[in-house]
Amino acid sequence: MKLLVANGSVVTLDGVQEVDVLCEDGRIVALLERGLDVEVDETLDVAGQMVFPGFIDPHVHSRDPGMTEKEDFAHSTLGALVGGVTTIIEMPNAIPPVDSVEVFHQRRAQHEQVAWVDFGLWGISVGEGNIDELRPLIEAGVAAIKIFWGYALRRDTRQLVYNIDDEPVENLLMPPDNGVVLRVFREVAQAGGLLAAHCEDRDILTVSERALAHPVETYDDLLAARPDIAESTSIAVAAEFARATGCRFHVVHMASAKGVDTVRNAQTRGIGVTAETCPQYLTLTDEDYGRVGPMMKVYPPIRTAQDQESLWAAVADGTIVSIGSDHAPHTVEEKARGFATQPAGAVGCETFGPVMADALFRGKISVERFAEVMSTSTAKLYGLYPRKGVIRPGSDADLTIVDPRASRVVRNEDLVAKQPVSPWNGFSLTGLPTAVVLRGRVAMRNGAPVGEHRGQFVPARHAQVVTSSR
Ligand SMILES: [Zn+2]
Repeated sequence: MKLLVANGSVVTLDGVQEVDVLCEDGRIVALLERGLDVEVDETLDVAGQMVFPGFIDPHVHSRDPGMTEKEDFAHSTLGALVGGVTTIIEMPNAIPPVDSVEVFHQRRAQHEQVAWVDFGLWGISVGEGNIDELRPLIEAGVAAIKIFWGYALRRDTRQLVYNIDDEPVENLLMPPDNGVVLRVFREVAQAGGLLAAHCEDRDILTVSERALAHPVETYDDLLAARPDIAESTSIAVAAEFARATGCRFHVVHMASAKGVDTVRNAQTRGIGVTAETCPQYLTLTDEDYGRVGPMMKVYPPIRTAQDQESLWAAVADGTIVSIGSDHAPHTVEEKARGFATQPAGAVGCETFGPVMADALFRGKISVERFAEVMSTSTAKLYGLYPRKGVIRPGSDADLTIVDPRASRVVRNEDLVAKQPVSPWNGFSLTGLPTAVVLRGRVAMRNGAPVGEHRGQFVPARHAQVVTSSR
């Protein structure tokens, strides 16, 4: 199967080039001078459009198995595909969580039955409970290990418990203390893996929420109950653990200016800390609550315009290396509950590409940085590079075609998510992913899938790198 992606502006490591991309048997085989006469099975004419390395969304909670009333892997990967994504990395906290190699192999086989895009898998650290499984998970090819720092687990299902006070203590496995967390850092470092966490200090959240003296009712209450110092404190501790152990540590969904400062300080001192942020933190602020409403309840919370400005600066200067959707769906009924009692989390993998492309064409980010944080440096971070994340001969032919002129209004009723409620409902976006090439075949055109689902698991290659350098 030979495919020529013709007449596009192609974003390569050497900048934007006016070349044609020749793909054969799933790989990129050449970047050709435009207009060369080559014999192919299919030509995709993308005149006037930009060709990016396929977008990678490293932060997806598909709720599958165990909570498939909220979402499932077929829906989340279809949403990713129609939004321009070619690879997702699935978070480990379904039921059961990916806490052992056994669950990892089950999850991989199960997801391969229904995947619309390629996927990697996260593994989970539950503290002492699975510390001996971390190395085998990393060697089996998990993209990273996520530690749910400060969260308890339900004893029977090992499901995360967000509010410890809501549950009888005998039903819980309590959160690992920092002594154990330091051991986890050491273990992941020795196995050559990447460790990541939701960084909000549990004790600061608990005390701040109690200090409110009433339930969270308004958006200001939410910000008071989850102050930015909870994020920066947690990052500062993680940076010390990373320094002590040499573990590579990644802050997921960073949301505050204080968080940015803390990561940047650590990086300046040569500590291996990186960060991710999400489209919701880059395009919404507390001032949007009146318009968007409770659908923008996410943890950590979306903060002020000043925080947003600082996050964009961090994207530009490389403090933030990767953007993920944090696709974290709940049912329409759950999200319709009052602000105080509805669960935090928003549908996002389908709007990830379009919302970020809109930001690109609004001039919020350069084309080069856009390609980095949406694909190239994400692939490097999670051990998928150079198979993924780059347009050059030998790499998988994963391409996201973006039309700067195309526009649409996001409508809940148009979403493919199982529970179609988006914080961007009603937003008008310009600059849309109009086609996707997945391993050499057109997989999406104009927001609709082409052909059958054929997503595959992609193992990360962290452990191999370490082994070969010994
Ligand atoms: Zn998440």
